[in-house]
Amino acid sequence: MHFKDLGLDPRLLKKLTHLGFDRATEIQRTAVPVAIMGKDVLASSKTGSGKTLAFLLPAMQRMYRSKPFTRRDPRVLILTPTRELAKQVFAQLRTLNAGTPYDGALIVGGENFNDQVKEFRKDPMFVVATPGRLADHLEHRSTHLDGLEMLILDEADRMLDLGFEAQLRRIHEAANHRRRQTLMFSATLDHEEVIDISSDMLDTPKRISIGYSNEEHTDITQRFVLCDHLDHKQALLDKVLETEDYKQVIIFTATRADTDRLTKELNERKLKAVALSGNLNQSQRNSIMSQFERVCHKILVTTDIASRGLDLDNVSHVINFDMPKHAEEYVHRIGRTGRAGNKGDAISFVGPKDWKSFKSVEAYLQQEITFSTIEGLEGKFKGLKPAPKKKFVKKKATDKKPSAPKKASASSAKKKTDKRFYENVAVGDNVFMPKKKRNVDVNSGD
Ligand code: ADP
Ligand code: MG
Repeated sequence: MHFKDLGLDPRLLKKLTHLGFDRATEIQRTAVPVAIMGKDVLASSKTGSGKTLAFLLPAMQRMYRSKPFTRRDPRVLILTPTRELAKQVFAQLRTLNAGTPYDGALIVGGENFNDQVKEFRKDPMFVVATPGRLADHLEHRSTHLDGLEMLILDEADRMLDLGFEAQLRRIHEAANHRRRQTLMFSATLDHEEVIDISSDMLDTPKRISIGYSNEEHTDITQRFVLCDHLDHKQALLDKVLETEDYKQVIIFTATRADTDRLTKELNERKLKAVALSGNLNQSQRNSIMSQFERVCHKILVTTDIASRGLDLDNVSHVINFDMPKHAEEYVHRIGRTGRAGNKGDAISFVGPKDWKSFKSVEAYLQQEITFSTIEGLEGKFKGLKPAPKKKFVKKKATDKKPSAPKKASASSAKKKTDKRFYENVAVGDNVFMPKKKRNVDVNSGD
């Protein structure tokens, strides 16, 4: 379907033609007409299917077609879980709003707060932000959201995983009026937490899902390789990098420390690799991403900080050096390749330490996975047997002690306090943690 059949303003159509986009992707042709009618939308479609334009086009349409509620407040706010993704969305917005009076500001952690206050004074109509920093600005009263017309949450589930629920609710409260439209997008929106928050933030939304989040991505060839130990993984990685014909590759590790160690090893072997992790300062992060985008390096080693949203044309391969802890991150990690109809390759190493994560990925994908081998590097590890189920021994009624009250949702409580979880994935923006521990995450300064 051509964009012109979606009811878009001719000025937008002209821009799309100029950008070389003619046919709308499935998510675009489904979501755009609903969103330009003003309805709330909860939309999911696979990675690389064009969700960004699916929300930017209705936002731009609103600029062209309706009057602002106030002159001062931002009209559209787009939130993303990472600074890198915010920058990318902002760049895509700039291709659409260039030459119009509908200017925008990028408001992310790690950048100078006062410069951002000045940006707000220019009354931008679009704000693309990470939730932590935006909530700080609301606190500081650098901006107000009473006049906000559209709130867009990209990768909403990830913002919740990272502990930004409080900030999202704060932002929602600041813009909580009847005429606000809210759109949520992700490749994985089936979390319980997403359903909870969306029922509070969205008003009778239209649910759009193009395929299922666990459906096989036909443009990505997925392979899983069993490994015995770290040295074995390293040898496999060397072999893969030697034999695969890759343009650029992203290697995901479990922790920042693993990212640094692996990058060092690759560089010692003269394989030019760069590391992107949350403990770098923002200008280092910016320069690494821009170098990788310009293909100055062929290998990027990172953590789940880069699993979401990033759209890099030349990434032909994704390697999971370690399996992700959260099954849906697997879908997002491999989705850094095979985008916009291109083909990609994903290779995952599964050692004893990865077994539990692997099983949850397998369960999430609802597929029985067969393992591949790499010639000359076959290992001994064949997977772990499930732990035998504990036998339930019925106690005599007389033994029964009054039982302690059950703790509510132990697993979710654990998730919030698991420090490693934050250390591995921290994105540098006010990751929500109990006050005392907040300084543990030293990468941001905001
Ligand atoms: P998603 O958010 O679904 O992962 P993106 O919005 O990042 O996907 O888009 C993935 C790639 O597809 C981008 O490079 C984008 O420019 C391109 N793209 C988006 N819409 C179209 C379209 N209608 N035709 C061709 N390419 C498109
Ligand atoms: Mg996206």
